[in-house]
Amino acid sequence: MSDTESKIIIAVDGFSSCGKSTFAKAIAARLGYIFIDTGAMYRAVTLYALRHGAIRSGIVDEQAVVGLLDRIDITFRFNPERGASDIYVNGDLVEGQIRTIEVSNCVSAVSAIPEVRRKLVAMQQEMGRRRGVVMDGRDIGTVVFPDAELKIFMTADPAVRARRRYDELTAKGERVTLEEIERNVRERDAADMSRAVSPLRRADDAVELDNSHMTVDEQMEWLMREFRLRSNR
Ligand code: C5P
Repeated sequence: MSDTESKIIIAVDGFSSCGKSTFAKAIAARLGYIFIDTGAMYRAVTLYALRHGAIRSGIVDEQAVVGLLDRIDITFRFNPERGASDIYVNGDLVEGQIRTIEVSNCVSAVSAIPEVRRKLVAMQQEMGRRRGVVMDGRDIGTVVFPDAELKIFMTADPAVRARRRYDELTAKGERVTLEEIERNVRERDAADMSRAVSPLRRADDAVELDNSHMTVDEQMEWLMREFRLRSNR
């Protein structure tokens, strides 16, 4: 069996701020796989739209966003310090600017635009063509890679999730309140689940992981059991 044949695709979907990226990154490091954070791609498009007048006072002008799409070139470059890839738009590093509350408040509306999804899903499918990837998002197991060998659906208590995101942002010096973070987490969940195109839902063959009260080590132990079941190792 060639290396590509023996490698699988691991789809990690679930609610906002469940620790999907942290978990997916740890899985990739453990298995020597590539980690792809698809939320960063929707955030990068949102940031570009904010900077180019397609979102004003929090209102997303869909036609204007679609009009910008051809001008947005997204690339990833591995950053050994983070142990993950940084995201670039048209060659500019935007990793540090895509997780602000301003972007978080507009990203669900941008990600509901069919043309945006079409462009990003095609890129994601291309990135996973050689397999050996751990991809985190909302529609990876349902739309991007419906044939992924291991699909994980992550959930956690909304209050626990809001606290995690709050700690993360305040550690970076962002001035936010726990209430506004919890409101954003709940609103994004509702928007992501109710949108017409590729709504967030658990794939029928996904295994659920509620990590409200689990450490990263416990999650990893759980993952390795599921991985061995599916990869013939
Ligand atoms: O994962 P993260 O919270 O950074 O994702 C930001 C937003 O991007 C989500 O709330 C969702 O609206 C959108 N998203 C999506 N499909 C994905 C990944 C993210 O619609 N595969």
